[in-house]
Amino acid sequence: MNIYDAVVIGGGPAGMTAALYLLRAGVKTLSIEKMAPGGQVLMTEEIENYPGFPSGLKGYELADKFAAHLEEYPHDKIMDEVKEIKIGNPVHEIHVADQAVGAKAIIFATGARYRNLGIPGEQRLVGKGVSYCALCDGNFFRDRTVAVVGGGNSALEEALYLARLVKKLYLIHRREEFRGAVCYQNKCFTHEKIEVLRSTVVDEIVGVEEVETLALTNVKTGEKSSLDVDGAFIFVGFEPVMHFVPGEVEKTVHGIVTDIEMCTNVPGIFAAGDIRAKMCRQVATAVGDGATAATSAFSYLEQLGN
Ligand code: NAP
Repeated sequence: MNIYDAVVIGGGPAGMTAALYLLRAGVKTLSIEKMAPGGQVLMTEEIENYPGFPSGLKGYELADKFAAHLEEYPHDKIMDEVKEIKIGNPVHEIHVADQAVGAKAIIFATGARYRNLGIPGEQRLVGKGVSYCALCDGNFFRDRTVAVVGGGNSALEEALYLARLVKKLYLIHRREEFRGAVCYQNKCFTHEKIEVLRSTVVDEIVGVEEVETLALTNVKTGEKSSLDVDGAFIFVGFEPVMHFVPGEVEKTVHGIVTDIEMCTNVPGIFAAGDIRAKMCRQVATAVGDGATAATSAFSYLEQLGN
């Protein structure tokens, strides 16, 4: 079994930053990522709040810049999905791509994926009008009518992106107040194509071959209604991707529990970025987490006598 000092699982901003810091410190590092490097950033149209880019830049451009920087430090990579991890002392075992590799330190940085509403019709109509990615599917709805469900930054940002393409957009949120940034709220609330439906929940997505209507309830009045749309874009938060994280590592429904140094309860196991149980999920915070996790892993390896 090939044994690495550190294995970074996940190739988004947190994972790429962690790998960069480890490699620059001379640590024998393996990166594991099942798809192209970039993570959620690749699905983001425009990033306006990453310092150093006052005019903003496309998500894929930022991901490319991170990846190009990391490529300056050649290292081993596996592009596949981790199947199982066995906690050891001091070497942990990672099963990936029909092989096992050893790791003295592991940094989990697999991020989070979009949450489902869990209502009738949603799963059946995915790809037939139900979408979780405006950038991927927005073009199919040019000059048509869509709904965006959610009240956070993702829903507001994606609504603004979609509003450029569609004829009409309903922004549906279950409460009166939105949790997304006020600057995005103001842009949505004053947009001529966006109609905001507050205190409204979607009970069902209805359609035979594709999305036709949404069954709605106003949670204040109890009034039921039906809304004709061609597409439903759902942005109701993220769930951390941690199904392969061993049971010994403490987690909550919100993610892996770490201290401020990104250490978990298990020696040699660290977590960084959106996979952590934390409030603020930004590219900037993911990068900070990655740098911190790498620094902690480096100290841990030194204590092991590396
Ligand atoms: P989020 O901030 O957790 O917001 C999720 C939204 O979906 C909330 O408004 C929530 O309603 C609603 N929701 C949750 N479950 C629902 C359900 N079952 N039915 C109906 N509505 C439901 O998630 P996010 O917008 O995906 O953002 C995740 C993180 O990424 C946040 O920290 C966010 O700030 C960050 N982010 C930042 C940017 C940026 O700064 N450019 C862009 C995108 C995301 P309630 O409000 O009632 O709970």
